[in-house]
Amino acid sequence: MPHSIFDEPHLRNEMAAYAYVEARVWRNGRGCPHCGVVGNSGLLRGKSTRIGVYKCYACRKPFTVKIGTIFEASHVPMHMWLQAIVLMCGSKKGISTNQLHRTLGVTLRTAWHMSHRLRLAMDESGSDPLGGEGQIVESDETYTVHKEGGPTWILHPEFGWQRQRSGADRVPVVTLVERGGRARSKKVENVTAATLRGVVFGTADTKSRLMTDELRAYRRIGQRFAGHDAVDHGREEWARKLGDGTKAHTNTVEGFFSLLKRGIYGCYFHVSEAHLHRYLAEFDFRYSNRIALGVDDVERTERAVLGAVGKRLTYRTANRQTPEAGPA
Ligand SMILES: [Zn+2]
Repeated sequence: MPHSIFDEPHLRNEMAAYAYVEARVWRNGRGCPHCGVVGNSGLLRGKSTRIGVYKCYACRKPFTVKIGTIFEASHVPMHMWLQAIVLMCGSKKGISTNQLHRTLGVTLRTAWHMSHRLRLAMDESGSDPLGGEGQIVESDETYTVHKEGGPTWILHPEFGWQRQRSGADRVPVVTLVERGGRARSKKVENVTAATLRGVVFGTADTKSRLMTDELRAYRRIGQRFAGHDAVDHGREEWARKLGDGTKAHTNTVEGFFSLLKRGIYGCYFHVSEAHLHRYLAEFDFRYSNRIALGVDDVERTERAVLGAVGKRLTYRTANRQTPEAGPA
């Protein structure tokens, strides 16, 4: 009989789901989220007790593994959260809120909140800088969704009001990619030297070798790196073989952009500027934890579960802004 990934007990059974999450979140011992004491608590048993409630013997307070994670204050059963994580981690272009709503049978609103919390769990922007000695980091910019406030309209003498199609009304994104490794994307206000400096130095280890296009702003940035090579796209130069046999190009980061755009335009139709950074975190996560790097679907799901820890407060803050687009 074929084995479906959804046959796993933790995706079907609530007790097993809690056990799965507990084993990962508390892999260094069961810590009380109230007082911080580790390994001094016991499972509360009783007919009316909910699943996975422990009592801390130090501070006498009850707790579950959900406290301090994206699962906190959610009424969605844990095994359905795990199903959602599997779907989002396993779909190359992501999974739309609508699809999540239909597949899991939760309301559209719940699906919307779940998917945004999951993107938060996938946010790895706080981890180690990209690259390092002997490594190549590519940096490039792209223009994504429309800026808030709608498109710019220009009165054309012949055709009347025309929607402006330049990059000026789209939100720029700067992405850095380790060649053969992880990706990190950032939504920016503009593509000035100052902005690029902030993103590049905040993302990559300057011991790496930087590869960019011919954009002037990169010249001074590149001087701070162990090496800097630029290809001149304006002169139709896409790749250049360097003395040591490596190739100067930005094909890796451009490949990432095409994946990102297929996801944003093909799967998530209503990505707003205000939420773009969350989608970027999602695409960065899947890219940085992809099969080519030895991370399979199971491992990727586990990493997302680990990422769910310690993100609750951030989410609460971010959520204070009303979702202007609502369920998309
Ligand atoms: Zn305690």
